[in-house]
Amino acid sequence: MSSSNNHGIVINEHGDASVLSYTELPMPEAAADQIVVRNAAAGLNFIDTYHRSGLYKVPLPYTLGREGAGEVVAVGVDAAAAGWAVGDKAAYVLTPGAYAQYTAVATSRAAKLPAGVTEEQGAAVMLQGLTAHYLAHSSYKVKAGETVLVHAAAGGTGLLLAQMCKNAGATVIGTVSTDAKAELATSVGKVDHVIKYSEDSVVDAIDRITAGVGVDVVFDGVGAATFDASMTVLKPRGTMVSFGNASGAVPPVNILASLKGSKYLTRPSLGDFISGPGEFDSRLADLFAWIAAGDLTVTVGATFPLESAADAHRALESRGTTGKILLVPGG
Ligand code: NDP
Repeated sequence: MSSSNNHGIVINEHGDASVLSYTELPMPEAAADQIVVRNAAAGLNFIDTYHRSGLYKVPLPYTLGREGAGEVVAVGVDAAAAGWAVGDKAAYVLTPGAYAQYTAVATSRAAKLPAGVTEEQGAAVMLQGLTAHYLAHSSYKVKAGETVLVHAAAGGTGLLLAQMCKNAGATVIGTVSTDAKAELATSVGKVDHVIKYSEDSVVDAIDRITAGVGVDVVFDGVGAATFDASMTVLKPRGTMVSFGNASGAVPPVNILASLKGSKYLTRPSLGDFISGPGEFDSRLADLFAWIAAGDLTVTVGATFPLESAADAHRALESRGTTGKILLVPGG
């Protein structure tokens, strides 16, 4: 493709949301195994704030974003041989540069959107949906009759994860910071018990809810602020899945003290759970089938113009969002 109108959100240095800059970018070309997507929407994920702040290092300058969806406008030779064509509707994940009007995407990270799944749903479900899927099915396989704790249950990942745990037959306890989030976690997330951890002690609440037994598994994307309580509320031989750092990175762990009770601790990453043969496709097939059947509700909490990505980052980091946040490119 020749140069034409492409803009995106670039960082030239690490820092707070003010380092995000709406910048003219070269029009991407499709390498042999790539497609170029004109983004209808890009997904906002907490990891984007880590890339921006420098908690996770990226080469600078860097175009932010890891997922999006839209129409295919260019196709590499290998991608064409694999069945991709201009005009296809695609969603993709773990691809740098999604905060842009156009993004080049390896076909190994892209999927065609089936009928019944919109571009917005596609952009909204790739990263957080695949994450919720592997957390509840592979990091730890949630089973009927178990009790699980999902932190930040009204957030993008938490809301999907709570539904999947509930659909697996578990009793789901969710933490949230506000009454509005409690209402969403209950209505859409289908959590059985909600804890307002901004006011109540998680340890006391779980003790009460489980009559002192504790939970089988904790899914903790909040990190530093909740780690100790999460370890405390686990049953003996329970599993702590520490998958994020929304409140800050978890400090080094004293395994003798923290894992007392023969507890398990894992710190998973999405990339490791979609790279095995067929894994990406089979997890996505589940997600799209559940959405189409009405078994998984994708909740877009807010949509921001791409140019206002800094406002979206500020909202996410100040705990002011629910569900999925989308960024929509103009023109
Ligand atoms: P969310 O939409 O869940 O937003 C984060 C939520 O965390 C907030 O809404 C807030 O909910 C809660 N929170 C608690 N303390 C804080 C704090 N100090 N600052 C900000 N938020 C806080 O974000 P995502 O779904 O994008 O990500 C959730 C977590 O999952 C992140 O830690 C992310 O890094 C992780 N993640 C990990 C992946 C992996 O494979 N390891 C993949 C995808 C996400 P409340 O107000 O209710 O407390």
